[in-house]
Amino acid sequence: MQYYSTNHKIKPVSLSEAVIKGLAPDNGLFMPEKICSFSDEYFENIHTLSFREIALDVALKFFGEDIGQEKLKELVYDTLSFDCPVVKIYSDIWSLELFHGPTLAFKDVGARFMARLLRHFLRENKRMVNVLVATSGDTGSAVANGFLGIEGIRVFVLYPRGKVSEIQEKQFTTLGQNIVALEIDGTFDDCQHLVKSAFLDSSLNDKMMLTSANSINVARFLPQAFYYFNAYARLREKGALKDKELIFAVPSGNFGNLTAGLIAREMGLPVKRFLAANNENDVVYEYLKTGIYQPRPSVETIANAMDVGTPSNFARILDLYGDSYDRISGILKGYRYSDQEIREMIRTVFNETGYMTDPHGACGIAALRENLCSQETGVFLETAHPAKFRDTMETILQVKNMEIPQKLKAFLKGNREFVSLPADYAEFRDKLLSYNQMPN
Ligand SMILES: *Cc1c(COP(=O)(O)O)cnc(C)c1O
Repeated sequence: MQYYSTNHKIKPVSLSEAVIKGLAPDNGLFMPEKICSFSDEYFENIHTLSFREIALDVALKFFGEDIGQEKLKELVYDTLSFDCPVVKIYSDIWSLELFHGPTLAFKDVGARFMARLLRHFLRENKRMVNVLVATSGDTGSAVANGFLGIEGIRVFVLYPRGKVSEIQEKQFTTLGQNIVALEIDGTFDDCQHLVKSAFLDSSLNDKMMLTSANSINVARFLPQAFYYFNAYARLREKGALKDKELIFAVPSGNFGNLTAGLIAREMGLPVKRFLAANNENDVVYEYLKTGIYQPRPSVETIANAMDVGTPSNFARILDLYGDSYDRISGILKGYRYSDQEIREMIRTVFNETGYMTDPHGACGIAALRENLCSQETGVFLETAHPAKFRDTMETILQVKNMEIPQKLKAFLKGNREFVSLPADYAEFRDKLLSYNQMPN
């Protein structure tokens, strides 16, 4: 299948080119040229299938023309080494827990799939492939863990010194193997600038093969549809959709997760509508209210993975619905929450049910509590494990020694290993080249 750019200024490209390039050369985002849907019959029996079986069926709709079924099965099954269960919180409100992967956030699904797909496309390639990723926290850990131990690929994670949390830092500095952590004496923007300079440096690109694992990559974006289908299947299995329609509430920053849900709906998944839950970075909320889209600089909040002022996947939402405000606002409703409202929601849900929502998931459940009708079953995406935000959670709930999952504890025990660099391109370039001399 071909992939076109949302800016329509380049010719459509193959899947492998879209995955290796990440961003289209005209600065647009790649979109699949067709969205193949399932038959009604498929949904009648979907609850008899496992998560992995469903994910493979969805993957075949996207990638089946480009990758053989056996290979795709291997990629999908290997990606989903963990479950994404639905858990009942209130009589009509369920949590779709996306935090059972290696770094305890939903980005594990896309990052693990992309790593394996990239490896597949580069299998004939004899040269080492170098993935560069700048991170303000969560992306670095999902990408580093997704690519960990994948042969023929080396990952450089650039992060700003002193500006990522201890838990986040441990998740990409303790891995070793093919992961190199570069601590930059500067800001996240400096890190991103170094990465961009490297991609534009043609003599460096002649010497080493460089690629990006940015979240807009189709190989990270499309697999996020897997768990929407599975949520529907599991709710059917539990009898939670009898005479009820399904709605999803998605805590959103760059809107990749939500856009994957919209694509699932275009493929026929019976979802009535979606709620987009923002923190104070609410440009899409404003758009849904007024029809005017006005990006602005982000502000810091306690749901920091959603601190995005220019949501990159908004271009995909516009593209999907032919730029029609009426169509978009018919399916999508926006909500926004201040830090104070997020704190109160976390406390309310915990006091009423004993369930801990992280600051991102709390925005999702808040939107459902405001909007759910009696004929609906609501699912919010619990995008990360609350323990990733331990200090914030302990303060909000006034608890001490919050329970930390084993996986997170293992990271905390590891020894950090990193290379410190100034925010200087010449030094960064030399460092990259020094790795290039090493055999792997
Ligand atoms: C990345 C992230 C989000 C935002 O997801 P988008 O796809 O960018 O909208 C929400 N919650 C958590 C925990 C995240 O890491």
